[in-house]
Amino acid sequence: MSLPEEVYHILQKIVGKDYVSQDPVTCEAYYPTGHGKDTGLERLLYEKAACVILPKTTQEVQEIIKVANRFNIPYTPGSTFWFITCQTKAPNSLIIDLKRMNELFIEEKNMYGVVGPGVVYSQLQEEAMKRGLYITVPGGGGQVSVVANLITAGWSPLNYRVGMPSRRILGTEWVLPDGEVLELGSLAMGSNPFWGEGPGPDLRFILKGYSGWFGGLGIVTKMAVKLFPFQPERLKPVGVSPNTMLEFPTQRMRWFNYYMPDSKALVEAMYEIGQAYIGAAITKVPLMWRFVAKANSRGEFWELWNKQLGNIQEFYPAIVRVLLIGYTSEEQLEYEARVLDDIMKEYGGELHRTRQGDESWIKNADSATMWAVTGGYASCAGMIDTVDSAVKGGEYYAKIKRKFTPPLVDDLGEPGWFQMGEFGHMGYLEFLNYWDPDEIEARERVEQWYFDEVPKADARMGIYNLFQCQMIPVLSTVKFGPNHHLWMEKIKNLFDPKHLSNPPAPFEFDEFVKRAKHLKGDWD
Ligand SMILES: Cc1cc2nc3c(=O)[nH]c(=O)nc-3n(C[C@H](O)[C@H](O)[C@H](O)COP(=O)(O)OP(=O)(O)OC[C@H]3O[C@@H](n4cnc5c(N)ncnc54)[C@H](O)[C@@H]3O)c2cc1C
Repeated sequence: MSLPEEVYHILQKIVGKDYVSQDPVTCEAYYPTGHGKDTGLERLLYEKAACVILPKTTQEVQEIIKVANRFNIPYTPGSTFWFITCQTKAPNSLIIDLKRMNELFIEEKNMYGVVGPGVVYSQLQEEAMKRGLYITVPGGGGQVSVVANLITAGWSPLNYRVGMPSRRILGTEWVLPDGEVLELGSLAMGSNPFWGEGPGPDLRFILKGYSGWFGGLGIVTKMAVKLFPFQPERLKPVGVSPNTMLEFPTQRMRWFNYYMPDSKALVEAMYEIGQAYIGAAITKVPLMWRFVAKANSRGEFWELWNKQLGNIQEFYPAIVRVLLIGYTSEEQLEYEARVLDDIMKEYGGELHRTRQGDESWIKNADSATMWAVTGGYASCAGMIDTVDSAVKGGEYYAKIKRKFTPPLVDDLGEPGWFQMGEFGHMGYLEFLNYWDPDEIEARERVEQWYFDEVPKADARMGIYNLFQCQMIPVLSTVKFGPNHHLWMEKIKNLFDPKHLSNPPAPFEFDEFVKRAKHLKGDWD
């Protein structure tokens, strides 16, 4: 596969010879394994890219997109390439790797940062913390592009205090699928990006909405993001890679792990913590994660976990982890610790020891280890709703998951990973699945779970699933529309009539199901 020679020469002229390549080895390096392989998309949907290009400026991005439109070349943007959707799915496609666009600037007084798509959270966070500020880092870690994350996800336990990610998006520069630049918020009226809502157009809910377009609606080349006041003490990096963490200044930041008598007590205590307006993050801990954290190797994990499976009476499903931060003073933390203690006494919570540091949510990156246990991992559901619906949703998935266990790992009916947002006014659920992706039959069965069974469950329960929400069965159900998918098609056709921006986004899962003989797609 390669692009026509004429096109290749034009691309070389745009970015320079060093930043465009059709070398099969380079293109192969952009071909993903991991997550995409686990969910089966790789077998039936992915195509190797014909060419990779690395622009440095917005003008270069515009010129590349205009060339793509002139010669009908499908293109896929990628910022940090963690997510499966940044793989090319059409023959003779171009990958636009945005990592050279790494502008980073902080406006300390008005508390925002300006980033290009090549900037990752760890970089922004380090600079923000030096100025007594912070940004909410996704639960999966700080290794991902701030821009890519905020236009597709932005889910973090730290959203407990600062809420929905779309609100952190301020002035934004967006190259549309036809190559024209659109500036959102105050950027439209000048060079100051401090405001997302205006006075220029606020199209953040077309750009991002619930979970964005996954490269299907052009390229964001610059974004201002809201930063928040933090506490002033330094978090010290300790350990040797891969076992590193940021040590907490415990007079200002402290974890509290409680084992609750049952799930009911856990949920009620969580609500009460939110009502008391204390805490920086509150999350239920899936039992398996306790074992992942304890084990030093995959072998050790299985030894510990198998022992647990044989010892059901010691099964402790209800662990809650609370992070307190004394944002304003040490006294704030001490006050919140006393309130927390009172609440936990009421609900029978038992405090357990935990390491006082962070491996993921502040600046580090531990999400790669999520795969390590079995080699295959994917959450089949994610949901932002109420805490109550997160709990009920998790329990429902757990019930129907039994039919698929094995090949899914037996997690003792774990009802998922749920946490609170906006001081308990919102709940977040992620439903986890582990399996061995090297066993082909197991993979097909897991795909039946992921693509046939879960969308039906979503429609039945009224769950607007973050991970499947661009699948037509979910979008077309009466609970969400019923014609939500038609609106998405309309917007796509309007902005990108040639469907060159990362096709078949936004409906790649539907395309996969159509091609997979082992899937029924019998959602109605
Ligand atoms: C194991 C695991 C755990 C995770 N946990 C969390 C979590 O807890 N919370 C959370 O919020 N997220 C989580 N994520 C998602 C992760 O944060 C995303 O991967 C991140 O949001 C985007 O970074 P990326 O490297 O995947 O982006 P990329 O892979 O580069 O891109 C992701 C998508 O956006 C498109 N895209 C990339 N850059 C641009 C751009 N500049 N303009 C337009 N389109 C673009 C791409 O085409 C692609 O479709 C997790 C991911 C994994 C694999």
